Amino acid sequence: MRGTAWLEARLGEGPQQLGQIWIAGGALRHIDDRDAAEGSLAPLADLAALRETVKTDDGGNFRPLRGAPTLRRGWRSPILAAPALARWLNVLYPGALAFAELGGALPVTPFEETARRQTGMYRLLHAATPEQARRTIEEVCDAGCLRQRLWSGGPARAEGLPLLCPEACNYFVGRCRESLAAARA
Ligand code: SF4
Repeated sequence: MRGTAWLEARLGEGPQQLGQIWIAGGALRHIDDRDAAEGSLAPLADLAALRETVKTDDGGNFRPLRGAPTLRRGWRSPILAAPALARWLNVLYPGALAFAELGGALPVTPFEETARRQTGMYRLLHAATPEQARRTIEEVCDAGCLRQRLWSGGPARAEGLPLLCPEACNYFVGRCRESLAAARA
C-alpha cells in the first residue's frame, strides 16, 4: 500500500501522532488514551471492527467525515507490522499516508476545478461563488476537520504527522450544494 515505506521511516524515529491516533509499539489507539493501561482499552480484532468503531462518535452519532475530531476513545489495535498499520490508518484517515509520502509533489485541485467537474444534482456547484465556498470552508473544514486544506490555503496543523487535504472532499461538496440549494429556495 502507498505510504507504507514512508510510515515505516517515521516510526523509525519513534512513536507518532496522526490526527487523533497515537502510533506506538506497532499498535494504534486514540491520542487521549496514550497513557491508558493496555487492559483498560477494548481490543479491536480486525479491520471490520475498526470500520465499525470509526462510524460513530462517543455519543453514538454518525461520523460523516473521517477527519472530524470526534473519534471514539477506549480501544486499541493489535500489534501490527507496517503494511497492516498502513491499512488500519487508511480506514481512519483515507489517503493520508499516500498524500504525506508525496509531500510537495502531491497534486492539489483548486475548488473551481472540483466544482466544474460536478454532474447531476451536484451541477449546482458550477455556480458557487468564492464567498459561498468560503462560508462552507468555515462551517465544514475550519469548524470540524483536522486535515490541512491545501486547495484553499488552510492553516498548518501543528501536531503530528501531516494530515493533508489536496481537494475538496465529497462531504464538503455535499454541504456546499446544500447551502447553494437553500439560498435558491
Ligand atoms: S474538504 Fe474540508 S472537510 Fe473535507 S477533508 Fe478537506 S479539510 Fe476536511
